[in-house]
Amino acid sequence: MQLNDASLLRQQCYINGEWVDADSGESIAIQNPATAAIIGQVPVMSTHETQAAIIAAEAALPAWRALTAKERSHKLKRWFELLVEHQDDLALLMTTEQGKPLSEAKGEVAYAASFIEWFSEEAKRVYGETIPGHQADKRLMVIKQSVGVTAAITPWNFPAAMITRKAAPALAAGCTMVVKPAPQTPFTALALAELAERAGIPKGVFNVITGDAIAIGNELCANPVVRKLSFTGSTPVGIKLMQQCAPSLKKLSLELGGNAPFIVFNDADIDAAVAGAMIAKYRNAGQTCVCANRIYVQAEVYDEFAKKLALAVSELTLGVGTEAGVTTGPLINVDALEKVEHHLADAISKGAKVIAGGKRSDLGGNFFEPTIITHADKSMLVAKEETFGPLAPLFKFNDVEEVIKQANDTEFGLAAYFYGRDISLVWKVSEALEYGMVGVNTGLISTEVAPFGGIKSSGLGREGGKSGIEEYLEMKYICMSV
Ligand code: ADP
Repeated sequence: MQLNDASLLRQQCYINGEWVDADSGESIAIQNPATAAIIGQVPVMSTHETQAAIIAAEAALPAWRALTAKERSHKLKRWFELLVEHQDDLALLMTTEQGKPLSEAKGEVAYAASFIEWFSEEAKRVYGETIPGHQADKRLMVIKQSVGVTAAITPWNFPAAMITRKAAPALAAGCTMVVKPAPQTPFTALALAELAERAGIPKGVFNVITGDAIAIGNELCANPVVRKLSFTGSTPVGIKLMQQCAPSLKKLSLELGGNAPFIVFNDADIDAAVAGAMIAKYRNAGQTCVCANRIYVQAEVYDEFAKKLALAVSELTLGVGTEAGVTTGPLINVDALEKVEHHLADAISKGAKVIAGGKRSDLGGNFFEPTIITHADKSMLVAKEETFGPLAPLFKFNDVEEVIKQANDTEFGLAAYFYGRDISLVWKVSEALEYGMVGVNTGLISTEVAPFGGIKSSGLGREGGKSGIEEYLEMKYICMSV
């Protein structure tokens, strides 16, 4: 990996404005999922270093929250500019540790940066309110103040954006933060810390620690100094963290698993639906929590959609993400690969037919061919669990009520998509889908300006949009007798 700015590859953690090793001196090698080559080492930190990071965040809090919103905004703006300036290096770092194609990594860097830009602006719009008094001598008002010290635990599928979507609103609101990135993708997180330092974000305001997920997680949840935890990851881990946070009654934001339905109605623009499905299904090799997991196609257009989707899939190029022309990278690890195989074998055993892909790629390693199956039905694992890989199951349906019922028949409620043109159908289905986000005639819904988040077992809270900063603010009601 040849970075233009080699100092963006940091192999130490960032605590209190210093680059540090683990107390034990222990470190762990990080592999490129496409080639298995070692990229570098990061410290294996544990409870003690987590406490040090929390202490640093606590010490930094008074001065950071005392800055004017405009002053914090300026520093965030600088951080944003540095991400943009170093976008090529950040993208290369990300592709090397995560596997996604360079073009997607560049897209993610822009997306990650957009949260910093957005919240640098929102920092200045934290308005309170005045309330007409309930008695003649009373004046009532509400002010909003930062929550305090916060923590973030983030996943590997979006190594930059899942951090900035949390850290930017936190810092904008006047909170400080300790981040524990995913073990698979620490280098992007550490590069973000390097750029935060260069942006002049004061020591202790933004800390990044790598290492023992359980020990670090335990401390972040149990420590009463931490007033809020924001987590993106799997539902079982989210539930565990919520339980661990209960004794200290922390505020929580949880972005958890999904099982997104993608519905194509008879009157849809089929070419557009195919293009949308390609993005919603195969982006990041199917490893996003908003990926289409179940594709429902109405009977009249089922064969046409299947044929066109298979043609589009045949144009994907699997390979190492840094190579020109590659559209689809490897899966993150062998467990992910085995889950896709397991879902596929289960579906085939229950009558599904493979019309594209269907096996590990000849490239070896963690590569799996982009795959489509037809004849999917609700008895199959693909209907119930998130596959998190490049496997598209096509379910056939006849009527609208039936497909809404099937689409909602899941514990999850993150994203849903559908393609159709009848305006009353569009309203009806948008309202009936029990999801936090609905894409209508589009397969790509994520943007920094809108609230991202789910209902049911997909989580709590929203990130991005104007509500994103509220998650890092407390309301204070002031009652004044005059
Ligand atoms: P995935 O299966 O996609 O890796 P996880 O929910 O396991 O999703 O991981 C998301 C993040 O949660 C990662 O940073 C991981 O290290 C962290 N994590 C996993 N288990 C725990 C735990 N028990 N306590 C704290 N953090 C955890």
